[in-house]
Amino acid sequence: MCIFCKIAANEFGTQFLYEDENVLAFRDLDPRAPTHILIIPRKHYENIDELTNADPALVGELFAAASSLAISEGLTGHRTVFNTGESAGQSVFHAHLHLLGGRSFAWPPG
Ligand code: 5GP
Ligand code: ZN
Repeated sequence: MCIFCKIAANEFGTQFLYEDENVLAFRDLDPRAPTHILIIPRKHYENIDELTNADPALVGELFAAASSLAISEGLTGHRTVFNTGESAGQSVFHAHLHLLGGRSFAWPPG
């Protein structure tokens, strides 16, 4: 079982900031911004491409959770990111949406 599947199974007692039937959100272990939340499907998909092909509506559910978390975190701006593949910085191969906020972000990203 992958690390995010274990988190979803609540093996570590992770605090969920948002949860419903299909979606979970929790704070990143190694935050890169004052707010850094990971939003994941409960079901395992390797990356956003696989998830989009299998269940496009679920992609919308992840972004809806991100929007409501941005409000509950009091963010005035935020960045949402899917890293896909090692070359793009993906290190956990269970699709996850990063929600980052609480500071300024450079463009383009590195
Ligand atoms: P990626 O690099 O795949 O886009 O993002 C994976 C993210 O998961 C990283 O930001 C990393 O800090 C985070 N992460 C890895 N393992 C754990 C964990 O066990 N718990 C939490 N909360 N975050 C994790
Ligand atoms: Zn998984």
